[in-house]
Amino acid sequence: MVVPATAQPEDPAPEQVELNGIVYDVPPPWRGNRIEEAADPAELARVPSELTGELGIYVTPETRDAVVAMAAAARAHGIRLEVDSGFRSYGFQKRVLEGLLAKGRPFLNAVRWTAPPGYSEHITGRAVDFVPSDADFKDAPAYQWLRKHAADFCFTESYPLGNAGGFDWEPWHWRYDDCDE
Ligand SMILES: [Zn+2]
Repeated sequence: MVVPATAQPEDPAPEQVELNGIVYDVPPPWRGNRIEEAADPAELARVPSELTGELGIYVTPETRDAVVAMAAAARAHGIRLEVDSGFRSYGFQKRVLEGLLAKGRPFLNAVRWTAPPGYSEHITGRAVDFVPSDADFKDAPAYQWLRKHAADFCFTESYPLGNAGGFDWEPWHWRYDDCDE
């Protein structure tokens, strides 16, 4: 006889997340990489709509300035950079993952490319996803351009191919850090 596992929905411990009322242990590679820096939504700046289409996308003001400058430089090289994700709150990330689970995706499959809430760099307001925000981005001219020039604007590819943290490659996901000019 199989006894279903029971879980308490309240008070997930560190390295646990509660989704749709079930508590899960956060698996590698996320485990141990919880992000404590969360942006204050009241202090975010909107990425100009010419870089985002209709979506309202918000990042820290420094990140906004850097992505605007970088997109202008890319444009001068004939490359269009378009952003389709910036700040995502804990609650937003939770709802995205809960939606995937509700559609029947197993937890361990869903968290391969969708970070558990509290583990996504998007909560810092300093991470952006470029279009197309999927594996095809590695073949986009924009990706080659970013690899050559993003560092000039203090952007780093967070999860490059073969990264030491064991994260899946996310060529579309870049993070702004303060850096020397
Ligand atoms: Zn991302």
